Amino acid sequence: SSSSFPASDVPKPRYVRVNALKMDVESALLELRKQYEVLQDDTVHGLLILPPGADLHNHPLVKNGSVFMQGKASSMVAVALGPKPGWEVIDACAAPGNKTVHLAALMKGKGKIIACELNKERVQRLEDNVKLAGATNVKVMHDDFLNLNPEDPSYSKVRAILLDPSCSGSGTVVDRLDHLLPSYGAGNSDPSNMNRLRKLAAFQKKALEHALCFPAVERIVYSTCSIHQIENEDVVSSVLPFASTHGFQLATTFPQWPQRGLPTFDGSQHLLRTDLVKDKEGFFIALFVRKNTHQLETV
Ligand code: SAM
Repeated sequence: SSSSFPASDVPKPRYVRVNALKMDVESALLELRKQYEVLQDDTVHGLLILPPGADLHNHPLVKNGSVFMQGKASSMVAVALGPKPGWEVIDACAAPGNKTVHLAALMKGKGKIIACELNKERVQRLEDNVKLAGATNVKVMHDDFLNLNPEDPSYSKVRAILLDPSCSGSGTVVDRLDHLLPSYGAGNSDPSNMNRLRKLAAFQKKALEHALCFPAVERIVYSTCSIHQIENEDVVSSVLPFASTHGFQLATTFPQWPQRGLPTFDGSQHLLRTDLVKDKEGFFIALFVRKNTHQLETV
């Protein structure tokens, strides 16, 4: 029962990420502190922590795109990719665009983000969010990421790819904590769910291998909001030989973060997990870096 996991009873704080394209952190703090007690997160710059009950949905700063309601782990992904202003970047599975607009802010609106999304309805939400954020350097594409030809000259300058593919979402469903906690390893005892996880993992692996094929890419982040090893460590370890032939290796993202990947293979210490109980969401982040270009950043 959930009583064996007392941390799960502690309410989840609310996070908002200040959109640097529209507002600075000091102004956001000043505004939000009129209503709430607000702390600053020490992992992600511009991420603010509000009390658990805070409902920001209709707050003017949310409505006008000055801040985005985005969880901590989700806000770590674009930071892990670390794009520089002026870079060309692909957000491979982009809708609804939380990470796209975060990338745009990290790039100070300079350079180019190709935001690819397969699902038509979700493309609309992506476009709305890009507009709301004032992210003028984003080109939204309604397409299958797997259809983007890495040899196409229009992608020859792409230096970074953020791959946040469809996943089981098992790290975000806190209500089902009790069912999920024992199932890191096995996936699940339910065969139909196991089948679903296998299908998701097959797509995730294919998409990650596709990302590794873009010729000028130096950095790739693979992330999920799943707690399952089959979608996380197993996907990463299965592409390692392929990654290696393309000159990529794993690099440590957020080195100070205590929780690393499940120790299922040599190199899993580079990977990052957030904890379903302690952090209230189970996320996974892996960073690949092309050897000769960024060797110094990998240690
Ligand atoms: N990165 C998004 C964010 O932070 O707001 C969330 C992405 S969500 C986990 C995964 C998305 O990938 C879904 O919108 C899904 O429709 C899309 N997707 C799934 N398969 C795809 C494919 N082959 N090509 C492009 N997008 C795909």
